[in-house]
Amino acid sequence: MKKANGSGNGSWNGLTKYRQLLLAKRADLLAPLRTKLDIFAAPVGGAPEDLAQVFHDQFVALQLNRVGFHDLKLIDAALKRMESHDYGVCLSCGDPISPKRLIAIPWATCCIDCQERLSSAPVPAPGVEAAA
Ligand SMILES: [Zn+2]
Repeated sequence: MKKANGSGNGSWNGLTKYRQLLLAKRADLLAPLRTKLDIFAAPVGGAPEDLAQVFHDQFVALQLNRVGFHDLKLIDAALKRMESHDYGVCLSCGDPISPKRLIAIPWATCCIDCQERLSSAPVPAPGVEAAA
């Protein structure tokens, strides 16, 4: 068994793995985005009833792209946190995010505990202001 780089935490080693996961996911997202955008470059012509189909395809492509861009932002943010050495740390409580979770969701911004707390937190009723 080799020791990881001597100093510091061994998790630094694992970052390469997460970075690869993030970059692979990024490439996955970008590949279809390129082909989807080809729809907009296609020459528009023909009968009006064909145009309806073209506009529908463009609309669908836009919706898909919105989802893709949202994920891309999360991935880019994770890559940035890697550079600033904040990667793998829960943004909510500051605890390390478990490697298992990072492998499943390499762009996760908070630990499983905080994620569960956030998703189960009661949503304040609209119009009700917290008494200060
Ligand atoms: Zn947390």
